Amino acid sequence: MTDAASDRADFDVDLFVIGGGSGGVRAARIAASHGARVMLAEEYRVGGTCVIRGCVPKKLMVYAGRFAEEFEDAAGFGWSVPEPHFDWSVLKTRRDAEIARLEAIYDTNLMRSGVDIEPTRAVIEDSHRVRLLSSSKVLRAKHILLAVGGKPLKFPDIPGIESAITSNEVFELTEKPDRILVVGGGYIAVEFAGIFSNLGSRTTLLHRGTHLLRGFDDEIREALAESYAKRMDLRLGRNLARIDRTAGGLVATLDDGVTLEVDQVLIATGRAPNVAGLGLERVGIALDRNGAIPVDAFSQTAVPSIYAVGDVTNRANLTPIAIREGHAFADTVFGAKPWSVDHSLIPTAVFSTPEIGTVGLTEAEAHARHGSVDVYRSSFRPMKATLSGREDRMLMKVIVDVETDRVLGVHILGHDAGEMIQAVGIAVTMGATKADFDRTIAVHPTAGEELVTMRVPAVTKRPVGVG
Ligand code: FAD
Ligand code: NDP
Repeated sequence: MTDAASDRADFDVDLFVIGGGSGGVRAARIAASHGARVMLAEEYRVGGTCVIRGCVPKKLMVYAGRFAEEFEDAAGFGWSVPEPHFDWSVLKTRRDAEIARLEAIYDTNLMRSGVDIEPTRAVIEDSHRVRLLSSSKVLRAKHILLAVGGKPLKFPDIPGIESAITSNEVFELTEKPDRILVVGGGYIAVEFAGIFSNLGSRTTLLHRGTHLLRGFDDEIREALAESYAKRMDLRLGRNLARIDRTAGGLVATLDDGVTLEVDQVLIATGRAPNVAGLGLERVGIALDRNGAIPVDAFSQTAVPSIYAVGDVTNRANLTPIAIREGHAFADTVFGAKPWSVDHSLIPTAVFSTPEIGTVGLTEAEAHARHGSVDVYRSSFRPMKATLSGREDRMLMKVIVDVETDRVLGVHILGHDAGEMIQAVGIAVTMGATKADFDRTIAVHPTAGEELVTMRVPAVTKRPVGVG
């Protein structure tokens, strides 16, 4: 019997994917395109976090919120805009319909690729067997891919925390909260505080640290906090102590004794790999200290027949990374084209208002790793703000290695920063030097042209200990 024929006899499928999110769907489709027999189990909705309750519905809400500024700004350009009125139920209905449309497309694409979809929770029985919980059916799989993603954490563990919602429930709200407390200082907290504040909710953003967005460039963090402090009630260096339900809503008590009356408390204090009850102990897969599944560069776990991609591996918890890891896995295992994902340079955006786009090293990281770095910085009022009268400034930074002239990092705060950083990311990934930026002709008049017209470093950092 040939290998393929013996596989057909020994296994029901060549690949069983647990989880129909960004990573699982990509891996399933690519594996099927290489001729593998693929089955995928999804316990909630195909599309996963990003499509159903993450990136996509969130970005639609970001767009919704930003119209408020557009209406205000229009006056400076001669428009008289009648008092705008926002209807949450219209946004929710239309957003949910769009998500359902995308979910259906994901389903169709999987089926067209030849992937069998099982709408059920699935768990590992042993290194080659998966149990479908809806039917207790057990499938024999040559390879198993764990693409189960993450789930929101609810910290701190305080009295009344059960009254708070997470990013899962925020998409279910049937009414816009008039008053909301958002807890956390990461991507989700910053994005949702921006959304609610733009939509007109009285918004408090509470973060235990003194700076938002750990890991981002310090000046960008400062500038975002400055802008947020003008837009909402920003409370840094404080924790939530308790939440009490009252007739009028919720009362949140902070650790300095301050009380806030709100309609909702949104907890956005991080996410954890979604591994509970998955059966990892049955195959001897131990978790790392963050509760994630350890894998090698090819996403293989300690059990050779079991692989894992995406948030459950906690490498970089972003959709394009999960997708790419899923693709690389499928090409490697089923397409005889082994490749692995380079996690060293990841462009990313925070859809706050103002928005952040970033790629490469922060100023502090570049200084620590490369010693001598030139920091080019431009802080300016965008052209649109001149007539609109809006106070916001844009901030752009280009960090350059003095020795090689290579651009180590680019950081942008302001309108369309996410769109800009995607394009800049190509250049930085290619290893562009500052001279390459300089010889690039500016596109005028744009905000982005600042990236290629910064001539003199704002500061040159020398290695620590060198004067
Ligand atoms: P997921 O997309 O989470 O998919 C995992 C799937 O597995 C889920 O559908 C789950 O129901 C299913 N599942 C779990 N266990 C089982 C089981 N035992 N059996 C069957 N099914 C199971 N990233 C960006 O790049 N840009 C953004 O703008 C962005 N915004 C975000 C906003 C929010 C509010 C959140 C929460 C996340 C956001 N992310 C964003 C992160 C992004 O959503 C994740 O990185 C991405 O979805 C990870 O993909 P994944 O395949 O690893 O997991
Ligand atoms: P993050 O890890 O980004 O942020 C968690 C925040 O919660 C941090 O500010 C952290 O503070 C704070 N925190 C942690 N524990 C506690 C605690 N016990 N009490 C109070 N505060 C606490 O997680 P998010 O949930 O915001 O997002 C999860 C991931 O999803 C992101 O890291 C990102 O990978 C992805 N994502 C990407 C988006 C995008 O690409 N635009 C958008 C949304 C999510 P401290 O800094 O002090 O540790």
